[in-house]
Order: sequence, then C-alpha cells, then structure tokens
Amino acid sequence: MERRQFLTCVVAAALAPSVVAIGPFLAEYDCVVVGGGTAGLSAALSLGRARRSVLVCVGGPPRNAAVAHAHNLFTRDGTSPSELLNIGRSQLTPYTTVRLARREVEAAERSEAGGFRLRLSDGSSVKTRKLMLATGVADALSSPSGLQRCWGKNVFACPFCHGWEVRDQPWAVVVHQAAMVPVAKMCLNWTRDLVACTHGSYTPPAEILADFNRLGVPVMTQPITEFQEGGLIFQDGTRLARRAVLYRPAQTQRSPLAEQLGCALDSAGLVEVSSFGATSVPGVFAAGDMTTPIQSLAVAAAAGNLAGVGVVKELAHDEFG
Ligand SMILES: Cc1cc2nc3c(=O)[nH]c(=O)nc-3n(C[C@H](O)[C@H](O)[C@H](O)COP(=O)(O)OP(=O)(O)OC[C@H]3O[C@@H](n4cnc5c(N)ncnc54)[C@H](O)[C@@H]3O)c2cc1C
Repeated sequence: MERRQFLTCVVAAALAPSVVAIGPFLAEYDCVVVGGGTAGLSAALSLGRARRSVLVCVGGPPRNAAVAHAHNLFTRDGTSPSELLNIGRSQLTPYTTVRLARREVEAAERSEAGGFRLRLSDGSSVKTRKLMLATGVADALSSPSGLQRCWGKNVFACPFCHGWEVRDQPWAVVVHQAAMVPVAKMCLNWTRDLVACTHGSYTPPAEILADFNRLGVPVMTQPITEFQEGGLIFQDGTRLARRAVLYRPAQTQRSPLAEQLGCALDSAGLVEVSSFGATSVPGVFAAGDMTTPIQSLAVAAAAGNLAGVGVVKELAHDEFG
C-alpha cells in the first residue's frame, strides 16, 4: 500500500464509524469550517462543489445529540442525529478538495498575509484565507436539577420538532418570560391538557392571565426545583405529573471564537450576519444556530449553504475582481 493510501486509511479509521471526506492536507486552505454539524457540513458542500479547498474541523456532538430522532426535516423526518451527520459527511466524499478532521479549533487570529491562523486541539496550526464559524450554541442545562437528564427525552425546546410524538398528552410549558406566551398558546395545537409554569420569574399581566383562563390553561407561578421523567417538582414540594415539558433554556455561544475575533453580536448574543453569512469581521463568515433565534436543522442547512456561497463569491472577487 502506498504511503498516501495508508495515511488515508488511518485518517478514515480515526473518523470512523462514518464515511468521511478525505481531501489533501494543506498548509493553507481557501476556507476552514469550524464545526461539523448541519450548518458546517452544508457550507462545506457548497464550497466543495465550487472546487475550493476546505478543512472542516469537527468538534464535539451536535446540539440535538440528546434526541433519538430528528423531526420536521424535509425528506429526513425521523432520522437520528448521528445518521443525518453520517449522510452529510459521506456526501462530501466526491468533493476531493474537502477534508474533515476531528479537531477542535482552540484559537483563531488574523495572519499578516490577511487570512487567518488557527490553532487546533492536536497542537497543530493551519492557515486559511476565509473562516466559516458553524459552532452552534450551548443550552444552559445545569439547573434546575434533573434538566440535563430529561433534556431531549421528556423536556424539549421546540414543539414542531418533538410535539407530534406526545400529542394529546399532558404537557407543561415554562413561560418564564413574555416571549413564551405565544409559544404556550401555540402548544394548544398539540394538546389541550396544558399547564403554564412561570417559574417564579415572570408575572403575566391580567389580560394574559385572562387569556390563559379562557383557553383552559392553568397557571403555576412557583419556581421549578426539579425536572423529572414524569413531570415537575416546585419549590413548595408540589408535584405536577406531565408527560412532556416545553422549556427554552438560556443559550450562549458554544465557542468563544466569534467573540475573540471581534464579530458583532446582537442583544441575544447571536452573531450578526448578512444574508450570505458575512459577519462584521472581513473574511469571517458564520452560519447556523449561532446566528439566529430560528433554530432548526433545515434552517441551519440553508444558512450553511448560503454562507458557503458567500465565501465562494468573496474568494472569486478576491481572485478575479
Ligand atoms: C434537544 C434538541 C432537539 C432538537 N431537535 C430538532 C429536531 O427534531 N429537528 C430540527 O430541525 N431541529 C432540532 N433541534 C435544533 C437543531 O439541533 C439545531 O438547529 C442544529 O443542530 C443547528 O445546527 P448547527 O450546525 O448550527 O449547530 P450544531 O448542530 O450544534 O453543530 C455545531 C458543531 O460545532 C462544534 N464545535 C463547536 N465549537 C467548535 C470548535 N471550536 N471547533 C470545532 N468544532 C466546534 C460542536 O461540537 C458541534 O458539533 C433540536 C435541538 C435540541 C437542543
């Protein structure tokens, strides 16, 4: 076996069990994509099809890793998150300029030449002309107690993603801020057995309380102290048996890279981007959950696709005027 073939096999084994794209290892890429989730792989597809050299740095698991099946996704409804990414990675293999590496990007800085120099988790560094951040968001799951365990099982953030499977069953919706009031009302599409829990942090005005009353939605105001498989426990020890709980925890950027590079963030801490994924920092693009409150696989795939096109356009402009 030739040395290059051998190395290819070694890298493929390191990335097992999925089929992966193995492009050449280069000292400098047209674009490094940070994050091998839906947005990152989708961006890599656009870039690879435009014959650009791409390194996709695949870090940890995707945000939806806790669920067995992803839903509300055109042509792939009910597919597991790992299978979705396996398909995404395997469909990059024809594009021989795309390489995947299971490495975190630990730091990024602008190089003198105008591109970027990245430090990877194996201690190596790599240069790139453009940088695509697709690093996702982190959900704050450390409290209340039990939230981490129940997340993606009986507690979920999106009724479109996981509501159908528990339709017509007893639900609670955590209305801990005013923005959750319309979400709570929308949950009535899936079940009429709904309790709104303000978690001690939101006081609905009288007209909202009247609305909930009219709709047959009881309101519980105490702080939730524990999430359980079978429902909720409140501060005074009251238990509420529920099959499902809709809860939107606080979010932060999963990676500090966008902030370190100086990308402008909005008031919710999301990276501000143009419709083709350009951030406020020249040469840095971003896509997926990290850029929008409208967070789903389909939206992340579309955003990655557009941001990939954005990078290709900019590279073409740099080279061809
Ligand atoms: C419990 C749950 C269930 C969900 N279910 C559904 C569903 O059924 N249908 C649906 O449409 N949506 C669902 N979603 C939303 C969906 O998961 C997200 O919208 C989608 O994953 C966003 O894709 P992304 O690529 O932006 O981010 P992610 O999928 O989070 O991918 C980001 C990737 O970047 C990696 N990364 C971060 N920092 C670095 C770094 N420095 N170096 C290298 N890699 C890095 C991360 O490890 C991660 O793999 C769900 C979300 C949750 C929380």
